[in-house]
Amino acid sequence: MNPPDTAPTHLVPAAELEELVRAIFAKAGCSDEESALIARELVGANLAGHDSHGVVRVPLYVDWMQAGWVRPGRTAEVVTDGGAFVLLDGHRGFGQTIAAQAVALGVERAAANGSCIVALRGAGHIGRVGAYAETALAAGLISIHFVNVAGSPLVAPFGATERRFSTAPFAVGLPLPERPLVLDFATSLVAEGKVQVASYGGKPLPPDALITPEGRKSDDPHVLYGDYGPTDIRRSGAGAGAIRAFGEHKGSGLALMCELLAGAFTGGGCAGPVEGERRGIANGMLSIYLSPAHFGTQAEFERIAREYLDWVLSASPIDAAEPVLAPGEPEARNRAARLASGVPLPVNTWGALQRTAEGLGVHSG
Ligand code: NAD
Repeated sequence: MNPPDTAPTHLVPAAELEELVRAIFAKAGCSDEESALIARELVGANLAGHDSHGVVRVPLYVDWMQAGWVRPGRTAEVVTDGGAFVLLDGHRGFGQTIAAQAVALGVERAAANGSCIVALRGAGHIGRVGAYAETALAAGLISIHFVNVAGSPLVAPFGATERRFSTAPFAVGLPLPERPLVLDFATSLVAEGKVQVASYGGKPLPPDALITPEGRKSDDPHVLYGDYGPTDIRRSGAGAGAIRAFGEHKGSGLALMCELLAGAFTGGGCAGPVEGERRGIANGMLSIYLSPAHFGTQAEFERIAREYLDWVLSASPIDAAEPVLAPGEPEARNRAARLASGVPLPVNTWGALQRTAEGLGVHSG
């Protein structure tokens, strides 16, 4: 469990935040449709409680767009089409747009034929991977996603101090009636965005999240970002240390497999090495979509999984006030609470967002 929030926050109604982010991307040069999609996905991450993949990313996305590292208005190119499998190249289009196209294709084919494998490379930052599992859930499909970030070595392998892996997330969605499950996490001890959030004064990091070049565990974001001012954009290339892989040798092994499946198998490239100046990042994602109805096990799957899940969740908690939760439950609870009362943003995150808005001539209220 991460430590609780300590920094002062600015509470913004979700609809207002989404409108501000939409206006920023529209002014920066995205179409109305793309601006609305980016805004919905980023604020959706905040609503799910994953502030690391929410609006904290806006200044950097705009910066990447202005540098030409991420491109508006792109359509994923079909590189290979085997019917049951597809390879797509996003050519650095906005990740929210490109991943949505890739997921729509995988869902459409799995819903028609029972399964589909979609290998995606070259997408801009795709954000919260669980959002794509949720799209598959809505179509009654199981989905499994291995993801990497080409050009973004941030994470030290088990036993090392130097960066070799990206934060390489992994996600699985299971469509159980009334109780859909979404497991979705970075294979780093914390997602990079959580280091960003902490650096802006938000939720502090666990004490062992980062590692210095000398091999000392740390929770100081400067280990990753070097020197920075309160509302400056954070540059992960500037620090000398690394984020640690989660789960010791096992998490480190899963990170390696995400890199190899999403980066090498798709042909999009692994986290590094990065030659010369860093010129943006690209997400790769290997997704597997399965339809229990087509496999003929829908009824058994739902009954056995539900009975088993109920038994798992009935395990006696260590602390009676904290019952065992299913993957996806914390996000659903956060969504309900934040839709009702607003999205809490650290004041420096809000300040950075306003600075970006004002830089583009968008009135931020
Ligand atoms: P995290 O450590 O908060 O773990 C989230 C997962 O654990 C969820 O499935 C959640 O339901 C489950 N969970 C949390 N608390 C639980 C509890 N008490 N009991 C049972 N289950 C619980 O997530 P993270 O590693 O910080 O990742 C955050 C987000 O960052 C994810 O959405 C991930 O996709 C995203 N990410 C994206 C990229 C990218 O390149 N696009 C890279 C890294 C991470």
